[in-house]
Amino acid sequence: MSKKYLIVGGVAGGASAAARLRRLGEDDQIIMFEKGPNVSFSNCCLPYHLSGQIKKAEDLVLMDPAKFSGQYNIDARVNNEVLSIDRENKALQVKDLVSGEVYIRHLS
Ligand SMILES: Cc1cc2nc3c(=O)[nH]c(=O)nc-3n(C[C@H](O)[C@H](O)[C@H](O)COP(=O)(O)OP(=O)(O)OC[C@H]3O[C@@H](n4cnc5c(N)ncnc54)[C@H](O)[C@@H]3O)c2cc1C
Repeated sequence: MSKKYLIVGGVAGGASAAARLRRLGEDDQIIMFEKGPNVSFSNCCLPYHLSGQIKKAEDLVLMDPAKFSGQYNIDARVNNEVLSIDRENKALQVKDLVSGEVYIRHLS
């Protein structure tokens, strides 16, 4: 039976977890929520950008939601902030920071 995973955060930890979970279960549903505008960017290279060695900030971005969807079948939602975690009901309250919509996503 396939499983469903909701991941909060979409940079190093979140994206690694999502990719690993996909390898463990081809049919599982994986949704990754990131409140910022980018997923999977290189934090470690920020100093090189700030010092000017890496000119374009976009060069720090390793993956985008379209690639996550196409390559891994992972639903990566940028600009989506998790407001609260309802452990009892296994649900997240999420705010789409672009539209302002607040919605609930259940684990089951
Ligand atoms: C300048 C610099 C250099 C570094 N160099 C190295 C190095 O050489 N080697 C190394 O191993 N590590 C290095 N690191 C550390 C490495 O980048 C961190 O360990 C890593 O970024 C941590 O990943 P993370 O996903 O746990 O947290 P973060 O990178 O902090 O990502 C968490 C994400 O979760 C999102 N988020 C938080 N709350 C919510 C919410 N409620 N809803 C939705 N999204 C949310 C945030 O927007 C953020 O994008 C460096 C870090 C920096 C800043």
